[in-house]
Amino acid sequence: MSGTVYSKSNALKALKSRLGSVVHVDSESIRIASYDGLKVFFSPSAVVCPDHSQQVGEVLELANEFGVPITTKGAGSSLTGGATPIKGGWVLDLSKLNSIDIDGDNQVARCGPGAIIADIQRDAAEQDLFYPPDPSSKMFCTIGGNIACNAGGLRCVKYGVTRDYILSLSGYLPTGESVQWGRATRKFATGYNIRDLWIGSEGTLGVVTEAVLRLIGKPLAQKTFLAAFNSDRDALKAPIELSRLGIRPSILEFLDQWTVECVQSFTGKEVFPGIPPHPILLIELDGDPAQIEKESQGLQKWLDQTALFSEYADNEADAEGLWEVRRKGSPAMKKLANTKLNEDVVVPLVEQINLVSFVEELRQQFKLKVGVFGHCGDGNLHVNFMYNHEDEDESARAVRALKLLMQKVNELGGAISGEHGIGLAKTPFTKMQFNQAEWQAMQSIKRTLDPNGILNPGKIFDIFNPWEQNKVSDFLPWEYSHDEPKPVET
Ligand SMILES: Cc1cc2nc3c(=O)[nH]c(=O)nc-3n(C[C@H](O)[C@H](O)[C@H](O)COP(=O)(O)OP(=O)(O)OC[C@H]3O[C@@H](n4cnc5c(N)ncnc54)[C@H](O)[C@@H]3O)c2cc1C
Repeated sequence: MSGTVYSKSNALKALKSRLGSVVHVDSESIRIASYDGLKVFFSPSAVVCPDHSQQVGEVLELANEFGVPITTKGAGSSLTGGATPIKGGWVLDLSKLNSIDIDGDNQVARCGPGAIIADIQRDAAEQDLFYPPDPSSKMFCTIGGNIACNAGGLRCVKYGVTRDYILSLSGYLPTGESVQWGRATRKFATGYNIRDLWIGSEGTLGVVTEAVLRLIGKPLAQKTFLAAFNSDRDALKAPIELSRLGIRPSILEFLDQWTVECVQSFTGKEVFPGIPPHPILLIELDGDPAQIEKESQGLQKWLDQTALFSEYADNEADAEGLWEVRRKGSPAMKKLANTKLNEDVVVPLVEQINLVSFVEELRQQFKLKVGVFGHCGDGNLHVNFMYNHEDEDESARAVRALKLLMQKVNELGGAISGEHGIGLAKTPFTKMQFNQAEWQAMQSIKRTLDPNGILNPGKIFDIFNPWEQNKVSDFLPWEYSHDEPKPVET
């Protein structure tokens, strides 16, 4: 024990002497670095905020020398505890490395890991270019965090996820050696594709210090539709039937009837005045106006045949009104209880109806408050279990129902996370998705790239039960902010 303490203080001394003023050990810096969007609290002994990327390599070299755990952090908006320093050590906060350089001729963006997604989109738009991945957290989350989680979002149904826009990644191996995976080229078929291995590896296999992103032409216009359906089954036909009709929505979001009821009680407003709550779809078309006109005719025809009611907006102010029901889903649920288990499961498109029906069974059997909404165009639905943490019986019912949900997702051929990653929160269910050979292959990749196990230890492989933890009551910066465009909470 005394040996560990001695080595910790030596490590800190070496860190301060090598990196000086970018090392912070004051209580406020330590407190802020102790948790992320999951809100479980584990303190690091220092926070390093590099102001140039080489310092990342230096931190990793020292961490290997002294055996110090390192947790890389972007904005800390992870909902799974990915950026929580569960083993203490040092937090590597990359938010200051936030450069953005748009190369309009090559249609790429060269970004530091701390660049905020909305800033990248704004700078690209100034040159009529578009970076499509749009997690609802885009006003505050970073490209480094998005790459580490392979973040998704609303527009993925048409444009794909973060992975589809990454051309090259520069950074450091866990050992502190500098690497570049891929090039700033549209194609790359040279050697092992470790760039794609890093994407979605949740900061466990390396630290990204620069990313080159592919940009595309900016869509010229949008048109938004809101429709209510008689049943979940009718609404959830949309991804397949619209695709057969040649309609490619840029957004296709579903809310089950329970969620719509919950939002209506929260806002005191009916989504369709005079009409009781029904399952809902929010659909956006984008592109050039002629294309939107053609697609909207087909979409309106489909809605007339399939939906109970529908309306549309072709300007931003009216569209914002249609968005309200989706934006309020999460805040409305949070009023029902003090704890929310927010799952982001994904199933094959045709199985979504089976998933939503199963949630209804869980709701009845366990007498729980559970709402489903999300990206049905991708089969990626957020299942939200609301319960009061101090109510032991209700907590036990929620956890039991959650376990059954994850088994069902597995049976349906789905995955326990479609966009948030495993972090800490999904670790109780990860192993059910892999056989022994797959699990061992993943572990041996980790051991090979990180022989001393210093980078983001405790994540993905070790079991952590989030429902057994007390949550931090602090608000995170974005929970105070009501700037437009508001995040659509997941
Ligand atoms: C209101 C709200 C809405 C959200 N909506 C969505 C959504 O629509 N879609 C979605 O996918 N997610 C969503 N999220 C989750 C979260 O925003 C994403 O997971 C995001 O990618 C995290 O980015 P971050 O910068 O906050 O990273 P952090 O939370 O700081 O870190 C996340 C993970 O990335 C690793 N990491 C961070 N930077 C680096 C780097 N440079 N190199 C290597 N590893 C790194 C960390 O170690 C950690 O494992 C939402 C969260 C909130 C709070």
